[in-house]
Amino acid sequence: MNNYNNLRIKLEVKKEELNERLSRIRKSKRKEHDKDWAEQATERENDDVVDILGENIIKELDQIENSLKRMEQNEYSICASCGQSINDERLFALPYTSLCIKCAGKI
Ligand SMILES: [Zn+2]
Repeated sequence: MNNYNNLRIKLEVKKEELNERLSRIRKSKRKEHDKDWAEQATERENDDVVDILGENIIKELDQIENSLKRMEQNEYSICASCGQSINDERLFALPYTSLCIKCAGKI
């Protein structure tokens, strides 16, 4: 039985980092819009970028959350699709993965 403590810590640190980034992005979005029309258009464009960034972060956080849950349930190294074990090399390279290399290849 493998111990994934190091990976767990890595994921927890990453989670903190992403949560911070997300709250910073949300704060910057809540800033008052400038009254100048041209400025407003640029700001709206910025908001779109912020939305995409935010969405990506939320997706990443979901994956981390999922990996941490899998660790808790001792399913971390078990492929979510075929139930075979995922090899450690793959887990260390892609800590968010829930699929073995064969199943990931099918997507
Ligand atoms: Zn599989």
